[in-house]
Amino acid sequence: MVSKSFITAAMLYDIVRCPHRPSMDLFGNPTDRDEINPFVQLLWEKGTSFEKEVISGVGETFVDLSRFAGDEKEQKTMEAMENGAPLIYGGRISADDLLGDPDLLRLEGSAYVAGDIKSGSGDEGFEDNAKLKKHYGVQLALYTDILERKGLSSSRQPFVWDIHGEEVTYGLEEPQGKRAPWTVWELYKNTLLEARAIIAKEARTKPAYGGGCKLCHWYTACLRTLDRSNDLTLLPELGRTKRDALSPAFSKIIDLASSNIEEFVKGRKTDFPGIGPDTLRKFHNRAKLVSDTSGKPYQTNPIVLPSSEIELFFDIEVDPMRDLCYLHGFVERRNGDTAQERYIAFFTDDTSAAEEERAFREAWNFIKERQPCIVYYYSKYERTIWRQLQNKYPSVCSVEEIEELFDPASSIDLYFDVVKKATEWPTRDHSIKTLAKYLGFNWRDTNPSGAASIEWFDRWIESSDPEIKQRILDYNEDDCIATRVLLDGIRQLGEF
Ligand code: SF4
Repeated sequence: MVSKSFITAAMLYDIVRCPHRPSMDLFGNPTDRDEINPFVQLLWEKGTSFEKEVISGVGETFVDLSRFAGDEKEQKTMEAMENGAPLIYGGRISADDLLGDPDLLRLEGSAYVAGDIKSGSGDEGFEDNAKLKKHYGVQLALYTDILERKGLSSSRQPFVWDIHGEEVTYGLEEPQGKRAPWTVWELYKNTLLEARAIIAKEARTKPAYGGGCKLCHWYTACLRTLDRSNDLTLLPELGRTKRDALSPAFSKIIDLASSNIEEFVKGRKTDFPGIGPDTLRKFHNRAKLVSDTSGKPYQTNPIVLPSSEIELFFDIEVDPMRDLCYLHGFVERRNGDTAQERYIAFFTDDTSAAEEERAFREAWNFIKERQPCIVYYYSKYERTIWRQLQNKYPSVCSVEEIEELFDPASSIDLYFDVVKKATEWPTRDHSIKTLAKYLGFNWRDTNPSGAASIEWFDRWIESSDPEIKQRILDYNEDDCIATRVLLDGIRQLGEF
């Protein structure tokens, strides 16, 4: 059992994601913890099996310490490094209050550099704009710091072996770009200070409602706290940073709602760092709306929606661990006749590239055959994935055809182009689940989510159970119908 006073890589990873989580892990009431989400469980299992697969393919000889634990593991790691082992897998190192379990320690010159095997991409963003992942970076920096303290570090250039079979070097002291001059090493140092303050109970962290909460094992407990305190992060898109900036003046949504907000506006600025006048007014209006028990959604800007005899409501399902788009679903409505609408799905029958291409081709042909039509989807995900699929399978369609398909004249991203730009809702977020449920729609599944669908798909691949496949299809169909429900709801909205 690891002493709570050690700072581990996992703890730093969590702090970057949500500083409240390590606080809860250390000091929260264990009986308040939710069950581990099945999708999170799946991610762990996939991470472990990916690591084993990568290691079994390493050509060079290495010292395998993965079967050892605790002090014995650490002692054997030190022995292996003293003996100059070229590569050590599954070791443990510590120095002062730092403890690390790097997947890899590689001899470079006369000392070591640490690495992790990750079942995700080694960086994020695209090509020239690729950025190192903060949560990977702080872990690698911790290992490097330990090696330095032991006089065993060869450089501040640790690495990740990623899902694409690439080695991504983490230059810990390199600025992350002109607009992001921070370095991973600086981030690590700050995160380390935060970790020490949390352990010493000198820093009082607060929950903040955000995208990662629904998969977290403290979700129920945190939501209870947030609801009770009428926390500002329960306003859509406000988030921890803005909440903390606003906190000297407002600790509750109701305080913000009842304030004279113009008192805080100073020309083109406000009293709150990083929050401009328009943003402050937007959240003030949101606070008023959610605080009003009879508050109704409304338009904030004119909404012009094209009309067409054929409307397609489009939603895809993607397994990021397999890098596979396994389902393209459409609800087709003609002449606005909801009673006659129908669901059409293109599902991959296995995880091969040939099947992924087949499903993409059939989905593409389906849309082409329905031209002219309007395609509705929710968030940029569908466009991003179809661009990637076009790049992967260029014989299906051209770059120009994809761009033409997603031209705003014939495709509407209801989230970015309509909900975000031109509406307000008395809800705590703007997810399709929340908004469609607000409008009275109910998913047939008791646990509907994209993450759950990925977990079902994994089980279907293992079992070929037709009931699981049907569950995936029903969920996707309901997502498509929810998009239609939302469109119809938006058409009914009153003006601001
Ligand atoms: S539920 Fe959200 S706020 Fe609470 S610990 Fe988890 S991620 Fe943090």
